[in-house]
Amino acid sequence: MTELRQHAAEIAEQFSDHLDVDVDEVEERLDNLVSEYRVPVDEARRSVYNSYLDEAGLERDDVTSRGGSQQMQTSDIEEDEQWVDLRVKVVDLWEPRSDSIAQVGLLGDESGTIKFVAFETSDLDHLEEGKTYALSNVVTDEYQGRYSVKLNRTTEITELDEEIEVGDDAETVEGALVDIQSGSGLIKRCPEDSCTRVLQNGRCSEHGDVEGEFDLRIKGVLDDGVETQEVIFDKEATEELTGIALEEAKEMAMDALDTTVVADEMAGRVLGQYYRVSGPLLGRYLLVDEQESPGAVDPEQALVRARSL
Ligand SMILES: [Zn+2]
Repeated sequence: MTELRQHAAEIAEQFSDHLDVDVDEVEERLDNLVSEYRVPVDEARRSVYNSYLDEAGLERDDVTSRGGSQQMQTSDIEEDEQWVDLRVKVVDLWEPRSDSIAQVGLLGDESGTIKFVAFETSDLDHLEEGKTYALSNVVTDEYQGRYSVKLNRTTEITELDEEIEVGDDAETVEGALVDIQSGSGLIKRCPEDSCTRVLQNGRCSEHGDVEGEFDLRIKGVLDDGVETQEVIFDKEATEELTGIALEEAKEMAMDALDTTVVADEMAGRVLGQYYRVSGPLLGRYLLVDEQESPGAVDPEQALVRARSL
């Protein structure tokens, strides 16, 4: 069976109780969008699905997605209005802010966590914190680049007798690096066991005067034009970001008899550049695990964008 045929069969099946839908007809509609209009398959599928919804005068919740939803990991969700199945642990439940919401909270699996909402009208069994469930037929939702899932009338909830190790919650932010804070560049840390405090003028606030160990770090601020996020690059991330390795940084500092030249040199290379970084949030900082740089921001473009926001 071709991919389109498969999608067509699933759509026809989903509407079989509501409409007289012929698989060939669905496939023809999909094929028309994909071949004629060069629409991506996922989008074509959504479009055709929505047109049948309209035709049947139905809401999304009225149509079960038998065979239509896909087993996914929470971190792989990056599309709006997708039907998915999840195996998750209920990490947290919050107080709903509206009477229409039955439950709201955080679900987690090995790949990370995602917010969920269940509405009163869906009339579902309540999820319990700390328990694990197989949830089938939940719908993805997107708001300002963040994804969540909505439970609905067709969602099937099956409690699982297994433990799920909830994975690290990596956040991704992007923006221009607009500031590098003090305590960045070539720093010295306290060598005492599990202390690692950054020395101020050769002193640890806990252990006094110590022979510090050199390290690299950048504490910076990413600004996407709407929000700012404070980020920390550790030694490896700083080396990747700036192209300056620890040994090189030490030589620079020795030549100048001054460690601050390192931060200055780094600032010259990275300030104003645009980055996309991801990693776990610790307090107000995002610890950068992964980074990519789509390149310098065109100042003209950035201004135009800033004005439009
Ligand atoms: Zn110390």
